[in-house]
Amino acid sequence: MTLSRRDFVATSSSLAAGLAISPSVAFPRASTTGGAAAPPVVIASANGIRGVKVAYDQIVRGEDTLDAIIAGVNIQELDPEDQSVGLGGLPNADGVVQLDASCMHGPTRRAGSVACLEDIATPSLVAKAIMDYTDHIMLVGSDARKFALAMGFKTQNLLTEKSRQDWLRWKSKLNANDAWLDHDDPVRIKFTTGTINMNAVNAAGDLSSVTTTSGMSWKVPGRVGDSPIIGAGQYCDNTIGAAGSTGRGEANIKVCGAFLAVEQMRLGKTPEQALLHVVERVIAMTEKRLLSDRGRPLFDLDFYAVRKDGTFAGVSCYEGSQFAVCDAAGPRLVTSAYLYRRSERPTR
Ligand code: ASP
Repeated sequence: MTLSRRDFVATSSSLAAGLAISPSVAFPRASTTGGAAAPPVVIASANGIRGVKVAYDQIVRGEDTLDAIIAGVNIQELDPEDQSVGLGGLPNADGVVQLDASCMHGPTRRAGSVACLEDIATPSLVAKAIMDYTDHIMLVGSDARKFALAMGFKTQNLLTEKSRQDWLRWKSKLNANDAWLDHDDPVRIKFTTGTINMNAVNAAGDLSSVTTTSGMSWKVPGRVGDSPIIGAGQYCDNTIGAAGSTGRGEANIKVCGAFLAVEQMRLGKTPEQALLHVVERVIAMTEKRLLSDRGRPLFDLDFYAVRKDGTFAGVSCYEGSQFAVCDAAGPRLVTSAYLYRRSERPTR
């Protein structure tokens, strides 16, 4: 659906104002693929458990799949308690919250993306505005902010007191000799990650995908992760399926994970087989400093995929991950498939 600029501004602000933050509902299932196999289906990273229900209900009412999943991820973006996305997201090394997001609309084969966006809580909607109202796909930094302001987005301070305190704690542990790579475990000591990816297919088989994040905490200012990279953080081909990722973006970018997942499904693989292939490729492309002596990754990375026929999966490097699903059986968390047992995760 394309709106005039004025309608767009009115719709996005009333949408943001009307979002209810309801308690999470989870119905754990043992299976990793297939619930009710027929569309519509919405899947997301586990933090999207509230959003998948919102998106599913909108899709069942006949609303566009991309509008629906963006409404789903807006819940996390606007939740100050979620420190991985939008308002309340953990800041960069300078204490500034910089957000990344991207989206793809299957039926119209369009994409939008924004990176290093400051002061605007809903980068997913900015990415969609770039898709809808420009001839471009990606805008970054202060010019992306300027574009968003022209489109009617409102600025606010995204750094909550809780995230500021966490940043201060991190900063207080630095010393004059610190470098970015000179310690044993650059992933777990210095950084935390978090993101929401959501993908949907409706009864007509139309697909969309979106990913939004505040990125890796304490990142070097200007760092762009995988979330706004079309083909890495998310990808959607209306003839095949949609996929996305959360976790260490630097590991995903090198394999274009979401694109690779869709291409593997194009070859006839199930979503789970496709994602396992992607995670194997990630490990094969990981530099030595981020692998244990046994070749196990020192980071977490999760992928999610849904096929046009409504089958879906989540796959993680290590046992123990879950992802959110909503279909005719309702919203629930499903256990992800994995490459390695949790006991194999390096502890150093
Ligand atoms: N993938 C995100 C990034 O690297 C972070 C995350 O998902 O936790 O920016």
